[in-house]
Amino acid sequence: MTEATPGARPRPGAEVTAAAPAKINLTLRVGGRRADGFHPLNTLFHAVDLDEQIVVRDLTDGPDQLEVVGPQSDVVPLDGSNLVLRAAQLLRQEAASAAVRALPPGPVHCLIRKAIPVAGGLAGGSADAAAALIALNQLWSLGLDHGRLVHLAGQLGSDVPFALLGANAVGTGRGEELTAVTANRPLHWVLLTSPVGLSTPAVFQQFDSQPGSPPPDASPPRISPALLAGLRSGDPWLIGANLVNDLEAAAFALRPDLARTAAAARAAGACGVIVSGSGPTIACLAPDQAGADALAAKLAAGSAPGLVRRATGPAPGARLCPVY
Ligand code: ATP
Repeated sequence: MTEATPGARPRPGAEVTAAAPAKINLTLRVGGRRADGFHPLNTLFHAVDLDEQIVVRDLTDGPDQLEVVGPQSDVVPLDGSNLVLRAAQLLRQEAASAAVRALPPGPVHCLIRKAIPVAGGLAGGSADAAAALIALNQLWSLGLDHGRLVHLAGQLGSDVPFALLGANAVGTGRGEELTAVTANRPLHWVLLTSPVGLSTPAVFQQFDSQPGSPPPDASPPRISPALLAGLRSGDPWLIGANLVNDLEAAAFALRPDLARTAAAARAAGACGVIVSGSGPTIACLAPDQAGADALAAKLAAGSAPGLVRRATGPAPGARLCPVY
């Protein structure tokens, strides 16, 4: 941890903007439910260039304020359960600790510019939390280093540490214990989003109740070496053939329309198709950039407007945005 310099805060009224990416799970292997309700995971996270933005500024008085703009902003909670306000609270506690010699943070205004579909299996809320940690660390001159921010991120949610790190990483535990993985070529995706989200707890519940679900505490299956080899060599067909999501059957059981969408994407020539996380977003891997543009055009023709998105990964993790 580096020490903050007291008095080195941005000038009053200054704004700080940070961005953080969506993720796709190239592999999501799920073990048996633990006594604490969580499932042990072996997952391979892949960040894509679909960013949330958070803008923070100090308020002189009153409570914290939260504003959300963008698609589906009306379904984002505005109360203390919002991960951005939880990140602010966590950083206030951190600022009060002996290790951080910063001025006590006051109330803050947070603007979330949403681009990632809500409850879409793309970890939009986690991206918001990661961007808020970076932005408030700067606004309040806390001087917390990356390692400390990653530690705090793990207290906010299983996917938040990866939103800080970005690129590609294996996640174990609840997904918060990360090991970076090198990839040698960009991957070109078409994301088939859904106007209605899927609840992650509901998908895990469905997973637990399905025939063949793992017994309590069972370890998750390992990540396929072929997938890791595909990432290293940058072979989209090898990657596409080895995409695995143990939650896919549960997501399809809750939303049979998703199985039909995935089948249509396969028939349209994707190298691989996978439900992202707990769904409902379906990620379709294309052989290259031109192939992804063609696949997106083909799939958009049979879909409601705005639901087909192009994305490329790996993308960087949470970062401050320059002020112009
Ligand atoms: P999960 O991280 O639970 O797997 P997801 O990636 O499918 O979820 P998110 O968009 O992160 O989807 O939202 C999951 C839920 O988190 C939302 O339904 C909402 O109630 C809550 N939430 C809390 N903070 C936020 C936020 N800043 N943006 C979106 N949702 C939020």
